[in-house]
Amino acid sequence: MRVVPVGGALDGVLWVEVAAITWESPHTPRLSWQALTVLPAGASAAEVAAAQAEALQHPSFFVVCDRCNRRHPLGWMHGPGCCQSCAEHWFGAVY
Ligand SMILES: [Zn+2]
Repeated sequence: MRVVPVGGALDGVLWVEVAAITWESPHTPRLSWQALTVLPAGASAAEVAAAQAEALQHPSFFVVCDRCNRRHPLGWMHGPGCCQSCAEHWFGAVY
């Protein structure tokens, strides 16, 4: 996740962007940044943090693994409810 200033001093905004991970091949991840939220350029640190926390709850980008209970980017999941790290550890998958 990243925050990108866009525009000038008078008309600027902050884009809260998240990385969508897709796989070109089984061993080649690819990131594409997508703007999820737009904040005013003068947004406070607390407002930015709140927008980032809200983005982490967005199921199109982040999910919680049922095995390790950690939140991961959706593209980092082996399948529904299982992250790639758990798939490697528990099922012998190789990434
Ligand atoms: Zn896991």
